[in-house]
Amino acid sequence: MANKRDYYEVLGVNKNATEAELKKAYRKMAMKYHPDQNQGDKEAEEKFKEVNEAYEVLSDSQKRAQYDQFGHAAFEQGGMGGGGLQGFDMGDLGDIFGSMFGFGGFGGGGSARRNGPRKGRDVNVNIQLTFEEAVFGCKKEISVAIFDECDTCHGTGAKEGTHAESCPNCNGTGQERVVQQSMFGAVTSVRTCSKCGGTGKVIKDPCNTCKGTGKVRKTKKYEVNVPKGIDNGQTIRLAGKGEIGENGGGYGDLLVTVYVQPNRVFVRKGYDIYCDVPITFVQAALGGEIIIKTIDGEQKYTIKPGTQPDTVVTLKGVGVPNLRNPKARGNQIVTLKVKIPTDMTERQKDLLRQFYGDTTSNGPVEPEPMKEEKKSFTEKMKDGFKDLFD
Ligand code: ZN
Repeated sequence: MANKRDYYEVLGVNKNATEAELKKAYRKMAMKYHPDQNQGDKEAEEKFKEVNEAYEVLSDSQKRAQYDQFGHAAFEQGGMGGGGLQGFDMGDLGDIFGSMFGFGGFGGGGSARRNGPRKGRDVNVNIQLTFEEAVFGCKKEISVAIFDECDTCHGTGAKEGTHAESCPNCNGTGQERVVQQSMFGAVTSVRTCSKCGGTGKVIKDPCNTCKGTGKVRKTKKYEVNVPKGIDNGQTIRLAGKGEIGENGGGYGDLLVTVYVQPNRVFVRKGYDIYCDVPITFVQAALGGEIIIKTIDGEQKYTIKPGTQPDTVVTLKGVGVPNLRNPKARGNQIVTLKVKIPTDMTERQKDLLRQFYGDTTSNGPVEPEPMKEEKKSFTEKMKDGFKDLFD
């Protein structure tokens, strides 16, 4: 990835180029550097790849935006953009090229596979976590069936004592050339060798265990370290634990997506935990001390006299640990729910009457202005300058 040229520079356009300009520039460059016009010219092949890679990114508005923001870092492994261009090789070019020119294209049928190494596929698995396991982290055993090297033939696909031979049809290149008529006249196109299916090898006596594929499905067990603070739908990547690749292309990754079961009383939003806590109307009126459950245990809280229904209080630092910095934690946001008793004794009712007097109002009750939802400072600012933000 070192010294990668700027994609705009590769296509010879400026940063504000329109889609049509990009397409035009790409056509020109792709024709110029196409391997069929530059037989055996390594430099042209590299340029052709470069041009295709640049166009693949810049022709996709989302990828282009990521590239404009982060540069090449957007597509490097573990980069900001995700879904990068790893494994991008000549074999993938048929699709872009074909769709662009409206025929099978130089790349050939859109399915040409080069005979080089290809990284194995990523494998997805899901795991279920309890609310607490997600908050505090845990270790989970998973077992997953993944294609791996056949132990009998060690991946060659050939029966013991025999070996794969170079395909006579394509001389081991995995590709054969076909002449096609197109809008540009006769064009030599390259497609996957029909005899060996692109592997460049033929196996006369296939291995019995894997039927000549060189791969078998194996059940593998892994222990996954689930980090503190992980949330529903997030994914843990175990690099190199996916499927075996082709021709020594290395293993794919194992992607473990977590599903968190809801808790009976706690609701998580980001790193904060929300809950409702009941208090009596006497505690609300007179104040008092209560004990509130948190994910760490219990915490004392002093209710102020004259507390109104649905008062929200924040217990700092007892929320979910931050995934990147577990020492930093969210808060617990508690709504105090004032409960009105429905089963008072006659004596209790008498005492209340003594305190309150007659419960029948003598005149109409004056309605109160409805409370506006509490808005954050920035929201209020936005309201104030609405025209500027819209
Ligand atoms: Zn085998």
